[in-house]
Amino acid sequence: MRVLMIAPPGAGKGTQGARIAAHFGVPHLATGDLLRRHVARGTSLGRTVQDYLDRGSLVPDRVMQDLVRRALADATAAGGGYVLDGYPRTPAQAWAAYQIATSLGATAEVALHLRVDDDEVVRRLLSRAGIEHRSDDTEPVIRRRLALYHEVTEPILDWYDRRGILLSVDGMPSPDQVTADVIAALGTRRGQCVSRPGPVPELLAAA
Ligand code: AMP
Repeated sequence: MRVLMIAPPGAGKGTQGARIAAHFGVPHLATGDLLRRHVARGTSLGRTVQDYLDRGSLVPDRVMQDLVRRALADATAAGGGYVLDGYPRTPAQAWAAYQIATSLGATAEVALHLRVDDDEVVRRLLSRAGIEHRSDDTEPVIRRRLALYHEVTEPILDWYDRRGILLSVDGMPSPDQVTADVIAALGTRRGQCVSRPGPVPELLAAA
């Protein structure tokens, strides 16, 4: 199973991504986690991206592209499936993801969208702030991440919809209910593979 996850911050991407990946026996590639690990280890990539993470800004495309290419190449070498969580987040990244996956013969079968209201996102992230102490879970940074989501990430959903691979699931119920809904819906998509990208210039024009 090859899945891209697209959702606002706080929608449960991390939790659901890990559960879906475990269910299908594929790696969970969460770009935010990969970046935070670099920051924690103090690598040169970590030092480059730390400010972006702290401010809730998007890490530059070239950096993300290298990170995702390596992660997808490893996943492909290990068997081919993946749950890519947190990438793509912009039209340009959507096109890059398609090109990288095409070159590896592993284009996504499903773009999974979790729908959660803005108020609920803010509520969840503020309650997570007390537990995980992430530098980007303060209210101003949460608002910025949410605004960025609406501005540059949401437009890519339409592209996946027109490719016929968009699966949009209500992310408001309990985590267990969302997992059950997603796994049931993904089960019906198994084995489908869409290789044509659709109207790319239009997508990039929306950027
Ligand atoms: P997340 O854990 O998915 O909420 O991501 C945390 C932070 O990592 C984001 O606010 C960005 O600073 C950075 N990040 C993660 N994925 C991407 C991406 N696809 N493009 C740019 N920045 C990203």
